Amino acid sequence: MSSNTHGCECQTLNHRIEEQTCVSVAECYQCGKCSAGCPLAEEMDYPPSQVLRMLQIGTPDLEDKVLRSMSIWLCLTCETCIARCPQEVDFPKVMDYLRGEALKRGIANPKARDIIAFHRAFLDSIRTTGRLYEVGLIVDYKARTRHLFQDILLAPWMFLAGKLHIFPEMIKGKKQMSRIFSGTLKKKKEEPR
Ligand code: SF4
Ligand code: SF4
Repeated sequence: MSSNTHGCECQTLNHRIEEQTCVSVAECYQCGKCSAGCPLAEEMDYPPSQVLRMLQIGTPDLEDKVLRSMSIWLCLTCETCIARCPQEVDFPKVMDYLRGEALKRGIANPKARDIIAFHRAFLDSIRTTGRLYEVGLIVDYKARTRHLFQDILLAPWMFLAGKLHIFPEMIKGKKQMSRIFSGTLKKKKEEPR
């Protein structure tokens, strides 16, 4: 047990990752194959195997560094790491949990602002239409980041090439999708800190 960034006594982050995602960071034996294959490792402040080592040690300062890192936001969920891992550690799942945790604690890296805006715009699109609605996502992303004119000249070409559709396509199970989102949000709020 250790204290978290809010000072309360609770489980270490690696215990909670295991509880919530069924991924055991203790399984990692630091062979480094994930870091060697990760296309973003060089851009990350801590490459995948180092993130896992920091979580294994599990002291509050290392947990805090992981949650404040850019690594968790640069991960593309490409799954190269898990494909190479002899222990089948599902690291993308860990990264996903860490992103949620960083947001919940309000300590996400400020440099990840645009990436976070994209994540939120993407999820809003899925929640509203049940699938990705590209025009809605672009408008939402631009409103959140104020990058109003970035890549604007690409829009006509994308419309002409049929890559963008003015109106969204709705799925049949929109209500079920809404229920999944509400259920997940409720579960998140009920999680122990
Ligand atoms: S490849 Fe697997 S065992 Fe090796 S360092 Fe990465 S997570 Fe750990
Ligand atoms: S899933 Fe993330 S951490 Fe794993 S190889 Fe891809 S970018 Fe790197």
